[in-house]
Amino acid sequence: MAMKESQMLAPFTTFGIGGPARWFAEAASEDEIVEASAWARERGVALFVLGGGSNVLVSDAGFDGLVLRVALRGIDVAEDSGQAGRGGATIYRAAAGEDWDGFVERTVRDGCAGIECLAGIPGTVGGTPVQNVGAYGQEVAAVIERVRAFDLEQRAFAEFTAAECGFAYRRSRFNAEDRGRYIVTRVDYRLTPGGAPMLRYADLQRAIEASMGAGSEPSLAEVAAAVRRVRQSKGMLLVEGDADCRSAGSFFKNPVVSKELLKAIAARSGKEPPRFPAGTDAENQGRVKVPAAWLIEQAGFSKGFAMGAAGISSRHTLALVNRGPDGRGGATAAEILALAGRIADSVEARFGIRLEMEPVLVGF
Ligand SMILES: Cc1cc2nc3c(=O)[nH]c(=O)nc-3n(C[C@H](O)[C@H](O)[C@H](O)COP(=O)(O)OP(=O)(O)OC[C@H]3O[C@@H](n4cnc5c(N)ncnc54)[C@H](O)[C@@H]3O)c2cc1C
Repeated sequence: MAMKESQMLAPFTTFGIGGPARWFAEAASEDEIVEASAWARERGVALFVLGGGSNVLVSDAGFDGLVLRVALRGIDVAEDSGQAGRGGATIYRAAAGEDWDGFVERTVRDGCAGIECLAGIPGTVGGTPVQNVGAYGQEVAAVIERVRAFDLEQRAFAEFTAAECGFAYRRSRFNAEDRGRYIVTRVDYRLTPGGAPMLRYADLQRAIEASMGAGSEPSLAEVAAAVRRVRQSKGMLLVEGDADCRSAGSFFKNPVVSKELLKAIAARSGKEPPRFPAGTDAENQGRVKVPAAWLIEQAGFSKGFAMGAAGISSRHTLALVNRGPDGRGGATAAEILALAGRIADSVEARFGIRLEMEPVLVGF
């Protein structure tokens, strides 16, 4: 397989930021994953696995090692007639390099429910289990049947059930205790043929009502289309020429807080904080998720705020964008981090909560 030298990484990221990778390769098969990782190991070279580059911030100095872009393609579909306690399902076996949004579109077209609210999220299939991608009330954790990955320690392939992936809000074993250990090559999703779409979030319900009228029963495709419209209105859909989507999506995770902390936030802000359920895992029992965007606004920042060539999206307080001096990009990673630090410090000073970054830092 071809090893390029000094490949600029900015074009491989949605931020459009990042210096060169010392080496760069694309793996189109499991054999090439094995080959490239062996190449790096034999030379003592650091390895970073890249998908669609939609959740990374690459340093201005780049990455002094091998960046391996996962480009495995292919989707197989099988029917599962159901076992005890589980209804019939369609199992989609998708290669890690498949474009996520294209995959969602395909499943919606097939009439299979389970990921319709995850339409419009950039990146690859292989990136979805890593941070347990979620939006508008759905998370991939709920539909992942199995993840196949190459174990860089054991030099062998392994398969994990959803329970073995350690999923929680924006978390899995792949971005926590086993960060950097596995290269995901395939994900199996268990979807429901003929299932009803999920319409849990108010934003989404309003978008459906606006286009179809109150009390309508939208199809999967109508819900997926509404999700894309809502995302676009917030600059959270990749649209050519839209400066607000030159980002990594949400830059901070929504903090999960105890009821006591929620009261303290309310007392400090003099307002009732908005909140969402924190999830059903044991760790989050009795806790709630507070929108980081709200905390950031309460700490004095607003949409469109700029600091040098980095800024806050003009449509969504949670997205930091590569604005550039003329709105056409050109911010450095250092500028994005300086803005992120200022925001996190201000929220901490006001509420005593340290916001956690969502994107993965590469080469820092
Ligand atoms: C406009 C916009 C909107 C977004 N909206 C959402 C949203 O609503 N919800 C949400 O959850 N996320 C959202 N994101 C973040 C991002 O799209 C997802 O996290 C996505 O799944 C990342 O996939 P990727 O292939 O681009 O991964 P990358 O950005 O390339 O990599 C991210 C991390 O995953 C690892 N990784 C990627 N592929 C593999 C693999 N095959 N094996 C092992 N590790 C791998 C990388 O090493 C890195 O640590 C958004 C991003 C943008 C730019």
